[in-house]
Amino acid sequence: MAILSDIHANLPALEAVLRDIRGRGVDAMLHAGDVVGYYPYPNEVVEALRGENVRSILGNHDRAVLSGEDHWFNPTAATALRWTRTHTDPLSMGFLRSLPPRLAMEIGPRHALMVHGSPKDGDEYVYAHDVVEELFPGEVELVIMGHTHVPYIKALGYRLALNPGSVGQPRDGDPRASYALLESEEGSASLHRVDYPVAKVAAAVEEAGLPRFLGLRLFEGV
Ligand code: ZN
Repeated sequence: MAILSDIHANLPALEAVLRDIRGRGVDAMLHAGDVVGYYPYPNEVVEALRGENVRSILGNHDRAVLSGEDHWFNPTAATALRWTRTHTDPLSMGFLRSLPPRLAMEIGPRHALMVHGSPKDGDEYVYAHDVVEELFPGEVELVIMGHTHVPYIKALGYRLALNPGSVGQPRDGDPRASYALLESEEGSASLHRVDYPVAKVAAAVEEAGLPRFLGLRLFEGV
């Protein structure tokens, strides 16, 4: 199973990840939220997720695109959200509207929960050092999170916290697209990075009239 998060409408990054996944015999794909926001391919990314049958949840940017409430975001993100609202077609809006805020499921031997931020709060940032026993509600043994754009796998005994990092806007200093693989049977996880044409996305950002900084940050992975 492949775990993706935070694509943020970066189609070239998603395509590179999908190509990388294809050679690995993956039977299912999950996405931990933020399908759109920041980059200029919202409709193409939604189409790709539908085509691949990716099970996604709703991220804070997806929610803001649906509601129009962007006052919690920094000016650059808010500008991108307004751009996304006017460039996302009704079919893609319908897809975003259909996304649940969280997903509970069985993955191999574990009860799993996928959220965008944390199990308590969809907007909370959980980094590896924040992973403690209390993060795991009830019977949950595997928590899948996104939102920070920083990948990690952290085990607490049998429990596992997993953030696959961001496909579309990595922030750990490595500009390559990030995702994770989960071996369902034995429950082991691994992190993967994939090169993609960053310059192409930066040029598309400028052409779309989106804030230039959104393209520049991709070269640094910040
Ligand atoms: Zn995000």
